[in-house]
Amino acid sequence: MTISADSRIAVVTGASSGIGEAAARTLAAQGYHVVVGARRLDRLRALADEIGGTALELDVTDEDSVDAFTTVLPRVDVLVNNAGGAKGLATVLDAVEDDWRWMWETNVIGTLRVTKALLPKLIDSGDGLIVTITSVAAFEAYDNGSGYTTAKHAQAVLHRTLRGELLGKPVRLTEIAPGAVETEFSLIRFEGDQERADKVYEGITPLVAQDIAEIIGFVASRPSHVNLDQIIVKPRDQASAGRFNRTTG
Ligand code: NAP
Repeated sequence: MTISADSRIAVVTGASSGIGEAAARTLAAQGYHVVVGARRLDRLRALADEIGGTALELDVTDEDSVDAFTTVLPRVDVLVNNAGGAKGLATVLDAVEDDWRWMWETNVIGTLRVTKALLPKLIDSGDGLIVTITSVAAFEAYDNGSGYTTAKHAQAVLHRTLRGELLGKPVRLTEIAPGAVETEFSLIRFEGDQERADKVYEGITPLVAQDIAEIIGFVASRPSHVNLDQIIVKPRDQASAGRFNRTTG
């Protein structure tokens, strides 16, 4: 697989659905050659065909997979750290260690691995951008959510640390922290239980993936001296991680 270094390259992790998929479309429309990564290669291939990008299998929890993914990239101008998600809802007393491991491996170590591997190329681009999709769960704790809130806090602090460490280098860093976005997020969180997933968005008008993609597009199209550090975005019906205006019936 040879990817040309002629056009600016944007890498989107977790692009097989939701926010990542929408972000890939937006960045492609802005003229980037978009390299999309995730585990479900069939979905990625369809997306890459549509946007004229490149589909590459990627499991951010697997070091060899990240190595294989990152070494074939001839240059990287934009990295969207989007791969992630939640598993379950449980009190600390009932915490399921395997769910915690999944969330920490995917959101935290996954972001670390991909970012570490691509940082030299982002710096070499002369005008790099790293966008990390954290969450309102990176700013707040909520009952039964400690596995996810701790992982998103850790992912966010990793990202924010780079803002200082890269000062003087040509790389911008933007953290986008969404509230409720209707994607496959809740379906994954509840192990395929569609009814339970639907309840999360019942009676509210949630954000959709395209809302976040447009913000990513806005961030990527600012002039290179403008760094949007943090963007928290929630539906109008959501005041905090656990407080919603729900209409019933
Ligand atoms: P989604 O539709 O479930 O998408 C998650 C993406 O992550 C999928 O493309 C999935 O692809 C990928 N992924 C999961 N594990 C992976 C792994 N080990 N290696 C590579 N890719 C992996 O959910 P989404 O809402 O778009 O989530 C995107 C990001 O937004 C996540 O970081 C999530 O925490 C964050 N977020 C979501 C919400 C929300 O309400 N939806 C709110 C705040 C923040 P494969 O399964 O094909 O690998």
